[in-house]
Amino acid sequence: MIERSRTYLVKEMFGPTLQGEGAHSGRACVFMRFAACNLDCTGCDTDFSPEGAVRMSADEVVARLRALDTSKTQRVIVTGGEPTLQWDAAISAAIRGAGFRVHMESNGTRVPAGPVDWLTVSPKPQHHPAGLLLADKVTADEVKVVVDGTVDEAKLDQYAARWRCEHYFVQPWMDATYQQNLARTLELVQARPRWRLSLQLHKIVNVP
Ligand code: SF4
Repeated sequence: MIERSRTYLVKEMFGPTLQGEGAHSGRACVFMRFAACNLDCTGCDTDFSPEGAVRMSADEVVARLRALDTSKTQRVIVTGGEPTLQWDAAISAAIRGAGFRVHMESNGTRVPAGPVDWLTVSPKPQHHPAGLLLADKVTADEVKVVVDGTVDEAKLDQYAARWRCEHYFVQPWMDATYQQNLARTLELVQARPRWRLSLQLHKIVNVP
């Protein structure tokens, strides 16, 4: 049974904007960011803290998405933090039932507890606390590896074997060692040509 009384801790919702990363890079959309994450990655560029987040019902989320989606994209990027910490069948049914395609971006540690239309897995096992593993039975539509000094060809091969999908991306981590990360990313694209370069387009064109 779908439980619609629950509320979700939402950090921010905004739009119209565009997806800046991966196979849907450049597409118009709206964004929804859940608060909270189960990782604490060095160099994380996202504010997912509960400060300033608001509790919203699924119906309130849908109303806000409709108001933001002035371009009628009917596409929402659902991210965090880690969105699978809160995603469930009820909010999935509400958002998808309103006609939105849900593109979720996850770190791959949990299987989404409700349907999505597109799942990006961006694994960061180098930042897992002890005992936290990548989840089994996650079906990815694309894998996006953020490249730092720990990512090499063998790691990409492991990921490609773990998640069979059509789209594989490497993206330089935008931290203090960006130039080294970019050089490594470009080398990886040449060494493993099935992996394509993803850049954070939204930062380049300066949209939120
Ligand atoms: S998983 Fe993503 S949102 Fe969470 S800490 Fe790491 S980079 Fe930040």
